[in-house]
Amino acid sequence: MGRSTKYIFVTGGVISSLGKGITAAAIGALLECRGLRVNFLKLDPYINVDPGTMNPLQHGEVYVTEDGAETDMDLGHYERFTHAHTRQANNCTAGRIYHRVITKERRGDYLGGTVQVIPHVTDEIQLAFVDGSQHCDVAIIEVGGTVGDIESLPFLEAIRQFRCKQERGDVINIHVTLVPYIRTADELKTKPSQHSVAALRQIGIQPDILVCRGEIDMPDDIRRKLALFCNVSESCIFGARDVESIYMMPTYFRGQNLDGRICELLNIWSKEPDMEAWERVRDIIRHPDHEVNIALVGKYVKLHESYKSLIESLNHGGYANKSRVKLHYIDSEELESLDSEGIAKVLDPMDGILVPGGFGVRGTEGKIAAVRYAREHDVPFFGICLGMQMALVEYARDVVGWSDASSSEFSETTGHPVIHLMAEQENVTEKGGTMRLGAYPCILKDGTHVRGIYGKREISERHRHRYEVNNALRGELEAAGVVFSGTSPEGDLVEIFELPSQKWFIATQFHPEYQSKPTSAHPLFASFIAAALEHRRARGEVGGGAEGCADGSADGCVEGGAE
Ligand code: GLN
Repeated sequence: MGRSTKYIFVTGGVISSLGKGITAAAIGALLECRGLRVNFLKLDPYINVDPGTMNPLQHGEVYVTEDGAETDMDLGHYERFTHAHTRQANNCTAGRIYHRVITKERRGDYLGGTVQVIPHVTDEIQLAFVDGSQHCDVAIIEVGGTVGDIESLPFLEAIRQFRCKQERGDVINIHVTLVPYIRTADELKTKPSQHSVAALRQIGIQPDILVCRGEIDMPDDIRRKLALFCNVSESCIFGARDVESIYMMPTYFRGQNLDGRICELLNIWSKEPDMEAWERVRDIIRHPDHEVNIALVGKYVKLHESYKSLIESLNHGGYANKSRVKLHYIDSEELESLDSEGIAKVLDPMDGILVPGGFGVRGTEGKIAAVRYAREHDVPFFGICLGMQMALVEYARDVVGWSDASSSEFSETTGHPVIHLMAEQENVTEKGGTMRLGAYPCILKDGTHVRGIYGKREISERHRHRYEVNNALRGELEAAGVVFSGTSPEGDLVEIFELPSQKWFIATQFHPEYQSKPTSAHPLFASFIAAALEHRRARGEVGGGAEGCADGSADGCVEGGAE
């Protein structure tokens, strides 16, 4: 293909949560299977500069990129579905755009001018389009929110202007919309999509492709009707029926030749896609050999999106073992109200226990109780970030005998702050973007469990935390059986600890879940699920194929296992 970057803008109509992000990611996957380099940009219409300071219960997980940007969780989908390396430039909020415009205004860049949404804000948005589209053949740019929202108007206007400036055939618009099925009338309804396309056209954007989310496959007469009323060619209208797992979307869209149509519209000559990896994933999801029960003990369990990357990584670990992971969300605060018998009742059916990251003291004693149960019963245990910190606190209290052990995040007076703030964090006053963020190198100690799992000595993993293991107490913890198996190259930051006395007990200060893909599971997740299967086998519970999941949710079958 030629040199210039091609642009695909993805907008959403009718309602939110239609799977725009998954659609964008699946399109990226298909184009990558055709040998094209893709990259993504997510535009969010809210005023926060980034989602870093938002409660995950509001906005789902904060996804952290390699360069330490705190971004929208759609970037996680993009990285899981493709090999794109996203960075700060790949996520931009209205707040960030306004911040840039206001900074320029104060600096005097617009001296003499009245600063306005058009052209100043829309120009800045177009700069973001270009910034987020580096090093790729095709840039997929997704606009958050729904067409018709006041907030997304400047973004849509910027798309309109941008398209006018590009060559014909270099830009297309894909509109993801809803075609609801009315059960009582046994009918699919096109009216909401008609309205949403009309709203888009009113602001000067004619969609080239419609992706219609619905409960059932789209019959031809509905396709014809949509084509007629939305001014879109019939061959450019695609169905997006609910499927068992998001990872079926690449093969599902391929079955309708969505990628072929996109390439025609964008004048891209490429090979036919190689779908082998996605077909393999699809087949495992449909016909897993085993099932494994994993407990996720956290405090944001009411909104599963808060743990999106983690849940997906557990799924990937399942695929690596031809297994279905059945996740059990356990509210750490609820564990606090139970005695040891009650805790055993909740955790005994589990083949593996995972304590994820988090902030604040609420629920931490419940997390510690879950760690204790895993350690005392030798259940495979995986601690991540706050989960790692609480695992160390548990060991310090129960095995080393420091009953007051804690993290200085939760207790300023403890005599044994096994987790504490390091000097550079003590002077931090602003909360936004000031944690230890992004990828850091880590050296694995020879002969340890993690060294064997990774199969190499130096790794790089992403971080998002303020607190660290207290070096002053490391010696005594080591003497009591803790192995600090991964550290920073200088050795001053603990990145992983493990307990060799246990079958599988690994706790990481970093978040491995940001680097796992369905087509290549992160080694720690693949190994954790393998250990959980082994634990289940040892209890005589493995056997027979698991039922393929068919909960009808578009979001993967793991959530179907929620309690
Ligand atoms: N609250 C802890 C810290 O800031 C852990 C953060 C996390 O789990 N992401 O260090």
